[in-house]
Amino acid sequence: MKKKTPKTKKGALAGKTSKKRAPHKYIFVIGGVMSGVGKGIASSSIGTLLSAKGFQVNLVKVDPYLNVDAGTMNPTEHGEVFVLNSGLETDQDMGNYERFLNRDLTDADYMTSGMVYKAVIDRERALGYGGKCVEAIPHIRDEVMRRFEHAAKVNKSDISIIEIGGTVGDYQNIMFIEAARTLKIRRPQDVAFIMVSYLPVPSKLGEMKTRPTQNAVHQLASYGVNTDIIIARAEIPLDQKRKEKIATACNILPERVISAPDIKSIYDVPINFEHDHLGDILMETLHMPARKTTASFQAWKKMARGIKNNTKHEVHIGVVGKYFNTGDFILSDSYISVLEAIKFSAYAAGVKAVIHTVNARDFEGKNPNYASFDKYNGIIVPGGFGESGIEGKLNVIRHARENKIPYFGLCYGMQLMTIEFARNVLGLKGAQTAEINPRAPHLVIDIMPDQKKKVAEGNYGASMRLGVYPAKLGKGTIAEAAYGAQAVKERHRHRYEVSPKYVDQLRKGGLVFSGTSPDGVLMEIAELPREQHPFFLGTQFHPELLARPLSPHPLFTAFMKAAKDRTKIIVSKSADDAMAANIPGGISIEKELFAE
Ligand code: GLN
Repeated sequence: MKKKTPKTKKGALAGKTSKKRAPHKYIFVIGGVMSGVGKGIASSSIGTLLSAKGFQVNLVKVDPYLNVDAGTMNPTEHGEVFVLNSGLETDQDMGNYERFLNRDLTDADYMTSGMVYKAVIDRERALGYGGKCVEAIPHIRDEVMRRFEHAAKVNKSDISIIEIGGTVGDYQNIMFIEAARTLKIRRPQDVAFIMVSYLPVPSKLGEMKTRPTQNAVHQLASYGVNTDIIIARAEIPLDQKRKEKIATACNILPERVISAPDIKSIYDVPINFEHDHLGDILMETLHMPARKTTASFQAWKKMARGIKNNTKHEVHIGVVGKYFNTGDFILSDSYISVLEAIKFSAYAAGVKAVIHTVNARDFEGKNPNYASFDKYNGIIVPGGFGESGIEGKLNVIRHARENKIPYFGLCYGMQLMTIEFARNVLGLKGAQTAEINPRAPHLVIDIMPDQKKKVAEGNYGASMRLGVYPAKLGKGTIAEAAYGAQAVKERHRHRYEVSPKYVDQLRKGGLVFSGTSPDGVLMEIAELPREQHPFFLGTQFHPELLARPLSPHPLFTAFMKAAKDRTKIIVSKSADDAMAANIPGGISIEKELFAE
């Protein structure tokens, strides 16, 4: 963001191409009718499909809000913050992109209005506009176009798929649509527009209504942008009659209206798109010769089949968190990468994961009732911030440790596991994290000096240890066995660390730091030896951010295998009992996320 913005040359995007390379193509994905209908999954799936046809593809997410990045946003409002290798804090859709493309994305692949405006304003302050009046058009629009072009270059791609956040009719995303429109005017053969729209089926009518989609297409046309393809999201498939109705009203051929009903697994979407010839239609729209999918698509298809986990071997996982109070939808959004990581590793371990949300607050106080825990084969405490639910989480962790229930702590989950160990094994009364009480007697989790400075200055944006860092692994540990390696790289997002002052004491007490920074100063993975506990392990980083459907994360897989082993111990309790159990604050989200 700080980099100097190069001048946008007139005609830089005017379709200049060398003889060797085919012109770069752009596909814009825009939402119609309402948000939250799966634009991100549609864009990701087009990415998978075109990659499967042998193209180099890049995916860009455009977020119209003024936040410079997603780091300061509350997960209950905006869903998970997804961190890239670079440390850039982005929208959860970037996680989908990485999972569907099976590769790491870069800063060039994400932009917010805040980022764009900041770049233009910084440049204006630096006299970068030579005394001119700086305006939304052309300056903001051109900066957006420069970023589109830059992303294509960084990725050396043939085709860019650019998802414009929000919905047609929003005020906020208009500048991005204008940039896309300008691009289309300058290179008409190289730009395609897809509208992902919603078709309601009002329960009173029991009939699918096409009017809102027609209106959205007409509204987009009023901005000068003609829709080439409509992806019709609905609860049920679109029938031929409505396909034709939309086609006639929206000026496109019926086969360019793609039915995209709700399905059980998002990983089937690229396969369904291929079935509906979306790839061929796109080639035609972009004036490219048609291509067949390559053999690599077979791996995706195999995974998509497998991930639906038709096995009867259920493994019940309790996810202990606090972003549950606003309903299942928010839950699945706040922890989307964790839930997906579990799904991939369940497949790898040959089991079907049944997730139970556990509200940490239900386990606060002196005598919490752990009866429901007998049914869990594994417990996860994911990342989190702040005080609420902390004592409940610590109680749950203690219960998992003492009862040998497989436990996996992610970031905050690792810090709390260390505090629990300090309090109840080392006897350090009042062990705490500085995040909650900086004056506690034993700050086993403390802030690192450089972060302290930033926070003291009130500079919370990007004030954490962010992005990918290397770790070395200890010989003979669970972590090393899981990874099958001695050195790994993982993504971080946290302000606090295990305090170097307590490391020796924790080690002597029996906690194994099986992963550390290469210089040995920062504790990256903590675990209990296998002989003491089947799986009691926490990571200071977020392994879920690097879990991909085609490469499940080894630590999640090791955890799922340990949880699977526990199902053999709990033989007397059937899975049905577990489902019917009175789980405090818990609900099964199996139907939404893991249904067959
Ligand atoms: N709140 C903790 C910290 O800032 C953990 C952060 C997290 O779980 N992502 O260090």
